[in-house]
Amino acid sequence: MQIATTINEVRANVKAWKKEGLSVGFVPTMGYLHEGHGSLISRARAENDKVVVSIFVNPMQFGPGEDLESYPRDLDKDSAYCESLGADLIFHPEPEEMYTDGFCSYVDMSVLTEELCGLSRPVHFRGVCTVVNKLFNIVQPDRAYFGQKDAQQLAIIKRMVQDLNMDLEIIGCPIVREEDGLAKSSRNTYLSAEERQAALVLSKAVKLGQELVAAGETNAKKIVSEMSALIEKEPLARIDYVKAVDGLTMQQIESVKEPMLVALAVYIGKTRLIDNFMIS
Ligand code: AMP
Repeated sequence: MQIATTINEVRANVKAWKKEGLSVGFVPTMGYLHEGHGSLISRARAENDKVVVSIFVNPMQFGPGEDLESYPRDLDKDSAYCESLGADLIFHPEPEEMYTDGFCSYVDMSVLTEELCGLSRPVHFRGVCTVVNKLFNIVQPDRAYFGQKDAQQLAIIKRMVQDLNMDLEIIGCPIVREEDGLAKSSRNTYLSAEERQAALVLSKAVKLGQELVAAGETNAKKIVSEMSALIEKEPLARIDYVKAVDGLTMQQIESVKEPMLVALAVYIGKTRLIDNFMIS
């Protein structure tokens, strides 16, 4: 497995692979990899001849006061993990490699980016769409793999690929959880032992929401309010949002319909965590 830090190195590899008619699967990440990322890499490994993983903490998708500087990083551990899963190439650029002097081109999307995480993180999806677009241009993958954990991001990327006629397939993969239910996240490392326990309230709320739907509840507002009430019982938790939205447009809905995304963002102490479930 090779670690490339420049765009030219990646292009040279991809060019050689394409010449041989090999397919390329791509997994974009910010690193500090866990089994959630691992599930994407394994799926890419199973479905493609070559697998590229990018590890890039993208400054453009962090707002002022967010955790860009403190975001956890461990390239050695990540490399060993990628290698064990059979990845062929890691792309690990410095920000200067991705954003040269005078950089001024952005991918801005409307509607889908204005709800949920877009409300509390106004510059986030512009940064995500711009960097993912750049990475697609660099890696030229046949398939790219994203987690359902970031459900809004997945919906946005699918729409971007459709709207901008990008020639690749976007594949969504299920949320990978810890044994006790907490969705795996690089940010879980910020949690103290007490907060780690309190963070279970997110997956408990998801489970409650799923149970209500399974029991036939059709009032989306009722589902959201019961989930919110459960979260509010946890003293260390502060709700950013709990919402039921159309699974494609991300616009709020009143009654249960398919596809429906029920998504939540909750601060546990200073750490903002997300979770969701989808009915489709
Ligand atoms: P990140 O490194 O947080 O930007 O995540 C990179 C990719 O891994 C994104 O497509 C995420 O949705 C996905 N991912 C992160 N955590 C999980 C998880 N627990 N289960 C499945 N996919 C995940």
